[in-house]
Amino acid sequence: MISSKLIKEVALAAGADKCGIAPMSRFKGAPDEMNPQFLFPEAKSCIGFVFRIPRGVQRGIEEGTQFYQYPSMAYGGINEIFAPAVLYQVGKVIEDEGYEAFVYRNTGARGVVSDMDGTPGNTLSPEEQIEVNENAKTSTAHHRSVQFTRPTREDNVAPDLQFQFRIAAVACGLGEIGWSKMLLTPEFGPLQRVAFIFTDAEVDEYDEMYSGEPLCRKCGACVRQCPGGCIPAINSGKTVTVDLDGKILEWGDIDMWRCYAFYTHAGRYYNPFVPKEVWDANENGALDLMEGITDVANEKEIMKVYTALQKYFPSWVGYNMAKCGGCIRACVSMLEAKGGCMEGRFKEPLRTKKAWRLDR
Ligand code: SF4
Ligand code: SF4
Repeated sequence: MISSKLIKEVALAAGADKCGIAPMSRFKGAPDEMNPQFLFPEAKSCIGFVFRIPRGVQRGIEEGTQFYQYPSMAYGGINEIFAPAVLYQVGKVIEDEGYEAFVYRNTGARGVVSDMDGTPGNTLSPEEQIEVNENAKTSTAHHRSVQFTRPTREDNVAPDLQFQFRIAAVACGLGEIGWSKMLLTPEFGPLQRVAFIFTDAEVDEYDEMYSGEPLCRKCGACVRQCPGGCIPAINSGKTVTVDLDGKILEWGDIDMWRCYAFYTHAGRYYNPFVPKEVWDANENGALDLMEGITDVANEKEIMKVYTALQKYFPSWVGYNMAKCGGCIRACVSMLEAKGGCMEGRFKEPLRTKKAWRLDR
């Protein structure tokens, strides 16, 4: 048995912004291939850590003047530097008590099922596939799911097991999932990323799942401000529903492939790096999806988009060069203005003028 107070004190001192702890029994209804209990069958507790995204890393996108800081700091920085450092420190304390700490940061790694559409098998990751095609012709291409995996023992699930981070965060009492599928917390709204430790230690006090006022206002701001129309309308009936140990989670059934294209490349009106002529020419129909000529968003269409547009913003930080974040900024802006979990946090609102849109 470990003190939950001790874990949380160490976590916050090491740099986490919030910490919650769930018994592993909360995952009992999860599909096997995404159930973290299979990671560590003896695990008794799941410890979730929140790492806030500074609102200011999206200032450049909000102003239309700087696009690197968001993917660099809020994806790369948190996933690769800040979160692992905290997992390491907390893990050491747990192991000093004689228990094991299975640290699990966000690796962006691939699992048995595609993180795009939940299908098993071989789905492409366009930016990595292009890299392989161009620079490493003999290497195996990367995919959104692992290709030739198989269980290592009878009754086991095939590696690599990837669980759903946002659901796990809800299990740890950290917040709720909003209509846009983002994790919302009472402290930081949609502005955070998360990481976890699974341990065979029981803790003396587990966190209840969040049960206050709904954190998502179902306002539809994220729907309206997505440049790709990826998030279904609030009353469309297009929902994903999960029963997490009695707590019903529901969010809009986002078109993830479509978002894959738009959050990196944003489209004609929201990507200042791609000349108008390129959109106008739409060579070989490569931009049909971005231009609304086709509605089919699948890996083939996404590959065409990435291949055509990659060169216009070539430098990256190990993560897709997000140019969008429209749903996050919309959510922050609305929650600041209308009340909710972002209310009163900043002296000035995120949005001080009309959102920009290129005239072309
Ligand atoms: S990240 Fe951008 S493209 Fe994706 S759902 Fe949000 S607003 Fe839409
Ligand atoms: S913008 Fe509104 S509907 Fe969308 S996630 Fe935020 S609160 Fe929910």
